[in-house]
Amino acid sequence: MRLSRYFLPVLKEAPAEAEIVSHRLMLRAGMIQQLAAGIYNWLPLGFRVLKKIEQIVREEMDRAGAIEILMPTIQPADLWIESGRYDAYGPEMLRILDRHERKMLYGPTNEENVTDIFRKHVKSYRQLPLNLYHIQWKFRDEIRPRFGVMRGREFLMKDAYSFDLDAEGARRSYDAMFVAYLRAFKRMGLTAIPMRAESGPIGGNQSHEFQILAQTGESRVFYDRAFEEIDFAAPDLDIERLKSLYAATDDMHDADRCPVPAERLRSGRGIEVGHIFYFGTKYSKPMGATVTGPDGHEVEVEMGSYGIGVSRLVGAIIEAHHDEHGISWPRSVAPFTVGLVDLRPDDPTCQATADALYERLLAAGIEVLYDDRDERAGVKFATMDLIGLPFQVTVGPRGVKAGTVELKERRTGVREELSAEALLARLTG
Ligand code: ATP
Ligand code: MG
Repeated sequence: MRLSRYFLPVLKEAPAEAEIVSHRLMLRAGMIQQLAAGIYNWLPLGFRVLKKIEQIVREEMDRAGAIEILMPTIQPADLWIESGRYDAYGPEMLRILDRHERKMLYGPTNEENVTDIFRKHVKSYRQLPLNLYHIQWKFRDEIRPRFGVMRGREFLMKDAYSFDLDAEGARRSYDAMFVAYLRAFKRMGLTAIPMRAESGPIGGNQSHEFQILAQTGESRVFYDRAFEEIDFAAPDLDIERLKSLYAATDDMHDADRCPVPAERLRSGRGIEVGHIFYFGTKYSKPMGATVTGPDGHEVEVEMGSYGIGVSRLVGAIIEAHHDEHGISWPRSVAPFTVGLVDLRPDDPTCQATADALYERLLAAGIEVLYDDRDERAGVKFATMDLIGLPFQVTVGPRGVKAGTVELKERRTGVREELSAEALLARLTG
């Protein structure tokens, strides 16, 4: 992409109402623009990151055996009246009347919707286990939307729903999601700590919140450093061990009783990016979602639900990966891999060299943002540091003579001079 033809409305100053660094940087880097409180336009750069995160989540859900569907944003109130949640949900639910005065709502979540799909189509235990997910916008009329996309009113969530014949099957479905979450967050350059949330009123329930580590996180967390060392390439992850590793929030942690030896104990600040829940027959019972079991009897199915805050992750990743100059994207979620800077677009040799390199990088399948604008070098470098592409490649008159370009790694700031061939080998290797 040529920057001269792109739409990247960077700001010199972040608006004063942006309180946290990710919100300030997303506005300054032209990633988002507020339309109303907690409701954002996703501009090109932000949208690319959102799509990258969405794709990683999708791949890990698919790998774990979940099946993608798409449920609508607008739902009929009837389903929620059936489950008993219509009145219970309160003012966070955006309630809508259609032209026939039928009660509708903008979905804050989709348990009822997916249970309705299930009960209409699944009749036998032989069709289980089943895990259906979608990646769809949600609306929750949060009392205090803030921190940009981290707590919006409209936000993008991946929500998966598992259906099993019995508690044992439901536990396996839960564990598969548990591992998929750890893998997905790791691929985004994040260390995620699963926090056991205490079981609800119905026995047998299980729940974990996933907090990713960032200095600016809302809550303090304590954990076994083994979480930082998990080898996700291992063919068989030991789930029981993972689940038994120590992780606690500030109020749960007691330094004197902590089972983890001091040299293995780590503490950090966390941001909740995911939540998984096993809740048994909470929806299948009132909504009549049953299957015929092996013995011919009707059984209410055991369910779980599994959410990931896809749009919140954009902010959360920035909280974990930035410095005083701007964002520093992990390669897996970066909007482009390389920022190519032509130092002298007014110099025909320089421009021809940069143009040729741009074409070669594209041909090699590398995503490039090419700053071909007629701008001062200082402005170009500041823009690149702000938007945080993992690699910056500079073409200048001195290098052109020597047959080299300069490569700077955004994260470390390390620079080196190398030939175009060596550069390509490095970026594709
Ligand atoms: P929170 O405690 O932050 O309000 P929650 O427990 O209400 O979250 P869930 O219903 O479990 O959230 O939703 C699953 C995930 O969706 C959360 O882990 C979070 O990452 C994301 N999420 C929830 N509410 C918002 C929001 N208002 N804006 C952006 N992301 C959100
Ligand atoms: Mg909430």
